[in-house]
Amino acid sequence: MRTSSLRLLQDPTVVVLAAGHGGSDSGAVNLPHKERDQAIAIVDQTADLLRSQGIEVEIAPHSEDTEKSIQWVNRNFGFGDAWVLEVHRDSASGLSSDDASRRCGIYYGTSESSKDVGKFVRNAYILNGAHPNSWARPDTASRFGRLGWIRQTRPVAHLLELGFMQGKNDDAHLSWLAKIASAVIFDAFT
Ligand SMILES: [Zn+2]
Repeated sequence: MRTSSLRLLQDPTVVVLAAGHGGSDSGAVNLPHKERDQAIAIVDQTADLLRSQGIEVEIAPHSEDTEKSIQWVNRNFGFGDAWVLEVHRDSASGLSSDDASRRCGIYYGTSESSKDVGKFVRNAYILNGAHPNSWARPDTASRFGRLGWIRQTRPVAHLLELGFMQGKNDDAHLSWLAKIASAVIFDAFT
């Protein structure tokens, strides 16, 4: 969308969403809740909300794991076509319930313009009701050191962490997280 103030988001016309993990990997688990299942629910609702605001959205097939989703993205989109976002739920112990429920984050890539998107989204999280501890970090600060979703995809890519598995897990809360995700994506993209 050419109206975005963010340089990397001026050319892309499509938002691509993917649920984190998949295949034999459920991601974080707080029984009976599984990150993968929640990420799928959030992705589907976020896509609906964005589409209702006129944004073109594609969803990476939920049958694929991260590796396959990256391949799917690269078969279908090149740099400048799309903004691709993988959706996760975070996991940590010792947080207050409110913090764990409402703290959201975004990982960005190596360029300054990718960081600009990260900083914008972090502010937008907070403006839209996420916890003030919400963050933007380079993927080098992730526990894996670098994130394939960000490094190996051809289009501009970021990774969202929406609340913690140790916070609220009910359907209404997942819908609230989808509302936050769609709001920050809309604000950054348009
Ligand atoms: Zn995850």
